[in-house]
Amino acid sequence: MEKIPSFQKDHNTLAVGLHMSAPANGVTTFDLRFKKPNAGDYITPDALHSIEHLLATVLRNSPEKENIVYFGPMGCRTGFYLLTVNLSYGEVLSLLKECIPVALSLEEVPGSKKEECGNYLAHDLAGAKRELSKYLEILEGL
Ligand SMILES: [Zn+2]
Repeated sequence: MEKIPSFQKDHNTLAVGLHMSAPANGVTTFDLRFKKPNAGDYITPDALHSIEHLLATVLRNSPEKENIVYFGPMGCRTGFYLLTVNLSYGEVLSLLKECIPVALSLEEVPGSKKEECGNYLAHDLAGAKRELSKYLEILEGL
């Protein structure tokens, strides 16, 4: 098996923040790294799940919704992947700085009813907001 590009990145030196990969088939992958890898601090599974619902909803309702291909969590629980078309690094950074405050203003997790979600009891809105607030601070410092 070939080692895929996301495993070729050196996770010992990967910092929190926003990282952009070279486009493949017109799609650009952004690494939204909330946590330093292997540092003992991970997003809890419920908060991770709620952030997925919150940001997927807000991004797909944003002015750039046509350019959002996918948003979802990393299995290692240190961040998320955002797949886009036609957006630069600066545009994605601005978009996240606009969308995270909108997500923080929501009073319930979108799509968290039993008929809408595969594990509807596994949500933590307060925990998701804590992680999103910390990540927004990281983005403000970039
Ligand atoms: Zn769900």
